[in-house]
Amino acid sequence: MASSVAGPEIERLIQLLARLPGLGPRSARRAALHLIKKREVLMAPLTSALQVAMDKIVVCRTCGNIDTQNPCTICTDPRRDRAIIVVVADVADLWALERAHASNGLYHVLGGTLSPLDGVGPQDLTIDALVSRAHHDSVQEVILALNATVDGQTTAHYITDLVQDANVKVTRLAHGVPVGGELDYLDEGTLAAAVRQRTLF
Ligand SMILES: [Zn+2]
Repeated sequence: MASSVAGPEIERLIQLLARLPGLGPRSARRAALHLIKKREVLMAPLTSALQVAMDKIVVCRTCGNIDTQNPCTICTDPRRDRAIIVVVADVADLWALERAHASNGLYHVLGGTLSPLDGVGPQDLTIDALVSRAHHDSVQEVILALNATVDGQTTAHYITDLVQDANVKVTRLAHGVPVGGELDYLDEGTLAAAVRQRTLF
């Protein structure tokens, strides 16, 4: 094991930073050193921002989004289209769709996808809450914005079966050629799906 180059407080900071996604031990050291050098302009505001976020963050009881208010900003926004529920596995997916301005509807965060191999069953996700939301009169469409993986598609089929008796249209994201993508570089599965799901020009 490498010997410490700094006191235990700094080592602890590095260890915690190294647990962040995308940061290994080496980049955690660089980040820690950067914070230490910028104590006044970066470390102090970051410390208080972390504390404030820690105190205020709540999970929206309606949709599962993370916010500082419950129901969340999206659920309480009167400009949102209440006829549409976009179903995502994780809050990160919700944020990605919001960044893309992909939908003006409401969301439902499942908290993961069904995964028999990893022992994730329906009871581990917020599927029951989604099914009862889908049965609400105002809802007309459920968009399954789930990963194009085996687990994502298994989850999509499972949800589709459960909301079949609700008066809603169930849709899923298109699979195909990415914007700006070149056909020659696509994998066979994506290319075949794009041809199968071709649309009128
Ligand atoms: Zn919400």
